[in-house]
Amino acid sequence: MIRATLSQIAAVLHALSPAQDIEFHGVSTDSRQVSPRALYIPLRGEHFDGHDFVRAALDNGASSFLWDQSLPVPTEVSHVPHVLVTDTLQALQSIALFYRRELGVKVVAITGSNGKTSTKDLVAQVLSVQFNTYKTEGNLNNHIGLPLSILRMPENTEIAVLEMGMNALLEIARLCEIAQPDVGVITNIGEAHIGMLGSRENIARAKWELIESLQPGALAILPDDEPLIQDLTVPPGVDVWYVGESPEAQLQISRYHPVDGGCSFVILPDQLTVNLPIHGKHQARNALCAFACAKFFAIDGTSVASALGKSSLTHMRMEVVELSDTLTLINDAYNAAPSSTYAALTVLQELPCDYRIAVLGDMMELGQESERLHAKVGVAVMHSGTNALLAVGDYAQYMVQEVNESASFQVATAANITDAWPILQSLIQSNQSIGKTVILLKASRKMQFEQLVILLKDFF
Ligand code: ATP
Ligand code: MG
Repeated sequence: MIRATLSQIAAVLHALSPAQDIEFHGVSTDSRQVSPRALYIPLRGEHFDGHDFVRAALDNGASSFLWDQSLPVPTEVSHVPHVLVTDTLQALQSIALFYRRELGVKVVAITGSNGKTSTKDLVAQVLSVQFNTYKTEGNLNNHIGLPLSILRMPENTEIAVLEMGMNALLEIARLCEIAQPDVGVITNIGEAHIGMLGSRENIARAKWELIESLQPGALAILPDDEPLIQDLTVPPGVDVWYVGESPEAQLQISRYHPVDGGCSFVILPDQLTVNLPIHGKHQARNALCAFACAKFFAIDGTSVASALGKSSLTHMRMEVVELSDTLTLINDAYNAAPSSTYAALTVLQELPCDYRIAVLGDMMELGQESERLHAKVGVAVMHSGTNALLAVGDYAQYMVQEVNESASFQVATAANITDAWPILQSLIQSNQSIGKTVILLKASRKMQFEQLVILLKDFF
């Protein structure tokens, strides 16, 4: 984590030198989670102003703090070393940039509508074969999380793998000013956040800000199947590798097939077999992005394939859990958008079984497209070979409005998880005699599908 003196930071921020200098260890923006001797940076949120908690931060071990210069410093803390700044959020970001430059690390930045966290985990896994690799913890991918992630990097880090999320144009551009990526990965362009961005074209443009930020000598790793980004301009001197399934791609997945516990495929032209202990072709594509990063950093391919063979994903992303001899759960309840739901449905089809149930909840942040996109997902479920669809939430009615119930396709709706649970139980029980059942659980965070996971684990 960053260690610096307040006067160094004052110089970086073009602020007045502190009356008292001190070396701090790490930064914190949360007064409840302060590491010893940290610099406390108060931020203004929707509901709270961090400036109100400076006393608590100091009581919890902070050694010093930043303060918005338009506010008077409370007398009870004025004796503690501090720096006055014009904007505490910008200060946090500038300090992160300073630290990133100081360490001189290489940065791999990952954005995309789906698969950022999965790809980040896989990239870090393979780069660790040869380098001290640091990655974004969890999902800290926005204008606050990204600088905090950078500031927590150990001093011996050689490569940082950072996830970048966005809700609007110019957000990724700002994150790139802070992170200065050497490799930019776009996983895919979906419909997530279309409510805020208006169109898939705008989503593509927003992600492209990552590629625009790259300097000569950098590498862009792009999906081979997204027409929306194919005509966008790559900065001079930046190398582009398309990855995917087409023969024209610089790196290609071939001979993909599901296997027990995950999938297997061969990477061309390198002719390397990968046995990935994670399900789904979309995750194979994420692994291919990881392979591309490793290749850029000249890591031996065989070691990379072996590292991918030992990979695992952050909790609740495509977790396949055997609940009993006859019941398997695909827990993909972390979040949902249309493209990740289609990907999850393909995994539901891949797992060998006799009865398939898709429990799908609301997908948030789709704005005016919500009704249409929920209906489209419902139709996709109907055509996917799934035997039962249980749609849950405010958009359940739209998800089922264009589907036709039949002898081989049962359909039900529920307003929330409480109402959904007895329906799911009876679906499972009435089909127990058929043989093996697989249940897919997928919804946006807000739907709290993890509660269904707990109920299922307790019950079966
Ligand atoms: P968030 O925006 O919430 O941070 P994320 O982009 O980090 O999401 P993950 O958390 O890795 O994405 O995965 C979210 C969902 O997307 C999971 O259901 C996962 O299975 C699915 N997914 C992962 N990779 C892809 C991909 N390349 N294409 C489509 N869906 C994917
Ligand atoms: Mg994520």
